[in-house]
Amino acid sequence: MDSHVYGTCEWTRGRTLGRGASSAVVSLAIRRSTGHLFAVKSAELSRSADLRREHRILSSVAASPRVVSCFGEEITVEGGVHLYNLLMEYVPGGTISDEIRRRGGRLDELDSRRYTSDILRGLSHLHAAGIAHCDIKGANVLLAGGAAKIADLGCARSAGDDLRPISGTPAYMAPEVARGGEQGPPADVWALGCAVVEMVTGRAPLPEATDAMAAMFRIGFSEELPEIPEKMSEEGKDFLRRCFVRDPKQRPTAEELMKHAFVDLCRNSAAEGVDESPKCVLDQGFWDAVEDEEMPTTSGGEGGDCWGSPAERIGRLCFGAPPEPANGGDDDDWINVRSADDNNGGVGGGGETVERDEGDQLIIGEGTLRIRVDDDYDYDYEEELLYGEVGVF
Ligand code: ADP
Ligand code: MG
Repeated sequence: MDSHVYGTCEWTRGRTLGRGASSAVVSLAIRRSTGHLFAVKSAELSRSADLRREHRILSSVAASPRVVSCFGEEITVEGGVHLYNLLMEYVPGGTISDEIRRRGGRLDELDSRRYTSDILRGLSHLHAAGIAHCDIKGANVLLAGGAAKIADLGCARSAGDDLRPISGTPAYMAPEVARGGEQGPPADVWALGCAVVEMVTGRAPLPEATDAMAAMFRIGFSEELPEIPEKMSEEGKDFLRRCFVRDPKQRPTAEELMKHAFVDLCRNSAAEGVDESPKCVLDQGFWDAVEDEEMPTTSGGEGGDCWGSPAERIGRLCFGAPPEPANGGDDDDWINVRSADDNNGGVGGGGETVERDEGDQLIIGEGTLRIRVDDDYDYDYEEELLYGEVGVF
């Protein structure tokens, strides 16, 4: 417990990025002293055992551009609620499932190949570290700058962790898992095959299975295999046949599949090893990615930039909605990132307690955090405490 810090003092929670199968909520966060962005996966402290486990596993993995990075853990009190927070890299492009929806229902094969190649690299990295992910699917793979990163290690298990019950998503489960057998690296390869089907058809495998039990029964106890999409290239079909080998001992490993023609792409070698995640609200590439993918293309105006000024962009980023001017009048350049009476976090919420040591001065209080960014992306933060003091940091 030593590494826990009590009290949110260094960062501010922004808009909700997503919720998955667990009770956790993922929010955008901004480190106030630097403007660095990251993601926070939060759960009530009393119900955070799974999230703590996820932190333990994620923090044991060496950094890889194909697996989301962990920055630590922290306990905060927000709106009177104790929260456990897993701090991790922010990946701005949404999930593969989001991308499938954005593209009208499925991905073209070239993108599917690229993302499959990235997932294989991530899996190979995890498996080499003795970790099976156990829940590979489109909704657990994030996108940044056209590349994919494995996220959500909430179901992951280390080698030899046999006591843990089976977990994951039934439609993506390998036969040995559905039968209650071993859930190891070969099961991730089967699930990857299912994710490829999801990418190229827009549907999870076995879509006609009415419920989870039916899907598991069919996968585990029949000779049935997920259908191989007719429209795929021969290379794609062959790749899937290899993922869908029923016997886990005969199934190729992620490492072996990396050599398969389906994923042997002339990839931009510069992309490998480069971390495309924005570190800061000032990274221009980050804005380009977010504008392309997340925001409406028209604003009902003249067809100009619907994001407006950099300050407005940051407001939208933090709230997912147009920012409010801080106080009107001369303050038009400032936007509120957090007001004293905000409740936008999705977990906890309420006014924020600020507690920071600035040189000799300790500032404690509930206050407003404002940000001002000029067109050259120079920025200021200002914090106005309820009792009238202003600290600039
Ligand atoms: P769960 O364990 O509940 O399924 P996930 O870890 O899958 O939670 O996260 C839920 C959603 O939050 C994801 O589908 C994605 O939309 C979003 N998300 C998770 N992690 C990040 C991240 N690091 N950066 C950006 N968005 C994220
Ligand atoms: Mg998930």
